[in-house]
Amino acid sequence: MKIAERMDKVSPSATLKLTARAKEMKAKGLPVISFGAGEPDFDTPETVKEAGVKALAAGFTKYTPTSGIPELKEAVCKKFLEDQGLSYAPDQVVISCGAKHSLYNLIQVLCAPGDEVLIPSPYWVSYPEMVYLAGGAPVFIDCSQNEGFVLSPERFKKALTARSKILILNSPSNPTGAILNENTLRTLSKIIIENDLICISDEIYEYYLYGNDKHVSIASFDEEIKKRTFVVNGTSKSYSMTGLRIGYLAGDAEIVKKIGILQDHSTSNPTSISQKMAVTALQLPKSYRAEVRDKFEKRSCLMFDLLSKIKGFKPFKPQGAFYVFCDIGQTGFSSEVLCEKLLEEAHVAVIPGKSFGSDRHVRFSFACSEQDIEQGLKRVMDWTEKRKEGMG
Ligand code: PMP
Repeated sequence: MKIAERMDKVSPSATLKLTARAKEMKAKGLPVISFGAGEPDFDTPETVKEAGVKALAAGFTKYTPTSGIPELKEAVCKKFLEDQGLSYAPDQVVISCGAKHSLYNLIQVLCAPGDEVLIPSPYWVSYPEMVYLAGGAPVFIDCSQNEGFVLSPERFKKALTARSKILILNSPSNPTGAILNENTLRTLSKIIIENDLICISDEIYEYYLYGNDKHVSIASFDEEIKKRTFVVNGTSKSYSMTGLRIGYLAGDAEIVKKIGILQDHSTSNPTSISQKMAVTALQLPKSYRAEVRDKFEKRSCLMFDLLSKIKGFKPFKPQGAFYVFCDIGQTGFSSEVLCEKLLEEAHVAVIPGKSFGSDRHVRFSFACSEQDIEQGLKRVMDWTEKRKEGMG
């Protein structure tokens, strides 16, 4: 069967493939410890679940406005104002089926064939594929571990051409755990404005921030950058609601309207019940987030310290999100081979960096118990010790 050309450049998600294989092994009774998770390990908050049950009992099971219920749009506006001082009207907000859907829609609406989309690398797996699906051209800008995986303004400027249209930022970052601090963001913002670019700022991990850093949205500096920025967020990571599929974005009202039209003809509204649950989630007290953050910060330190002790591994200390991106170049293996070996021989699941743009890294998620981190990394250490002779 002849498949549409637009699928030619799109690869399957390595993250999903590896987690599926790990689950299959677990189902067979093998004691697999997984560091593959892209979702928090704690349960969805009780009050959020109750809101879902209540919505169901009240028969809130029909179509809603395509771009989201007014109540949720208002809750999103309130969140942006309280968290970042960003003021949006409800017609500048669209609710979608997960932040992935928000990003997909944005790229479909903004990116024309041939347009270049600048993506700092390492990057989240789906950005390039979304650009390919829109007929655009991803342009990767290398950010090295030595430079803290931070986009250098010089390299950003060098990558610009007459076709450059969009820059995608993701702070805190999946997969590196790096953040862009206020100074860097201000410099980047100037370059974006000077070169008449659009910025997509994926802030889905904003509450997973360690140390004393405060999350800053690039859109919050002034009207000029706000006008050309789309802030993307969602309830998946912040409230452990990954399966409920609620994402949202805010930005220019005209583009937001077009996204609503795209949803009209593709998914229609995000699930009615999930929208009600998201309203409750966005109203949870700040103390809830602080508790989660503290727990994850402890895990990030534990994982980083243990990985630092493994020969041939050079982890990057995460400042946010829930991943440790680890340089494994000295092991002599490519990221895919190393991940395959760790899964089959040590029963530890990790994600190859190749799908994030770096074949000399693997991604360890610490969205799991401290016990799993200790036991899993002991297995990795034992495995590398056994193979010592092959290492530099
Ligand atoms: N952006 C980033 C950087 C992510 O890591 C993810 C989830 N892995 C998403 C967006 C999408 O999240 P969701 O669709 O579950 O809201």
